Amino acid sequence: MMKVIRTVAELQLELNTRRNQGLTIGFVPTMGFLHQGHISLLDKAKHENDVVVLSIFVNPLQFGPNEDFDRYPRDEDHDLHVARTSLVDYVFLPSVDEIYPVEPQMTVQVGSISTKLCGASRPGHFEGVATVVKRLFEIVKPNRAYFGLKDAQQVAVIEKLVEDYQLPLQIVPCPIIREKDGLAMSSRNVYLNDEERRQALAINQSLSIARRQIQENRDLTVAALIQEIQINILEHSLARIDYVQLLTYPDFEVLNGATTIQQLNEDKTRLLLAVAVYFGKTRLIDNILLTFEGGE
Ligand code: AMP
Repeated sequence: MMKVIRTVAELQLELNTRRNQGLTIGFVPTMGFLHQGHISLLDKAKHENDVVVLSIFVNPLQFGPNEDFDRYPRDEDHDLHVARTSLVDYVFLPSVDEIYPVEPQMTVQVGSISTKLCGASRPGHFEGVATVVKRLFEIVKPNRAYFGLKDAQQVAVIEKLVEDYQLPLQIVPCPIIREKDGLAMSSRNVYLNDEERRQALAINQSLSIARRQIQENRDLTVAALIQEIQINILEHSLARIDYVQLLTYPDFEVLNGATTIQQLNEDKTRLLLAVAVYFGKTRLIDNILLTFEGGE
């Protein structure tokens, strides 16, 4: 029977018992409004652990002052239904006061990684993420925690968090789940109107074209590749680009624009091709991880 728990004390009591029984705990932190992307993490957690804990917490600390904290989509009944179907054991649904009884004086500072990509566009975002995830890890004390590569920079930040604080758990990165037409699943997709939703396909399409280019055109430069993606996206009238970047992963070093695909192949680096695009007021992100030699 799935249990819905709203307090730290009750969750810890339950999980201590489970841990003392020698059971392993898999943890999936989310902000709710669950979709197939979240479900894929829950399925993997179920497969690899005895007990699955899902948290649903829209964390105010990771939203900027002009972002969508107040209107972030929420649907508790739907989420509990999804959780039950995914055989979750515990759903942790804390209030903001439960997680932050007092305004935190100690927050996790994230280094240079938070100055890149989404960190540059959303100051304080990754500090907010790292602070809440550290707190949730300390509450749940999982053996493994599951994160989607839809948010590849977040995965890198959390892996650093675990490494720097020597937290005793394993991070499991999971592949991006997409709609049938290729749009990466996101709780924020509900913000899109019909025309924005149609045009948003440009994101994945431009990444797919880029992937093909990388496989086929060794003389292509990084700058030309980026430019082509930008042009493909901007052919759609409602698109406004936040960033299109190719960086090393997981260190997020920006590449020289004159570097060719041929040279990248020789370096055998792992790269992240990442984009963030506004359609109307909605900011969507997507990426592909590329491993040279030989594509993704
Ligand atoms: P969120 O509720 O958006 O904070 O996401 C919670 C977790 O689900 C994060 O680890 C996300 O990376 C992951 N996630 C969200 N969307 C997807 C997706 N389309 N595919 C895979 N994982 C996802």
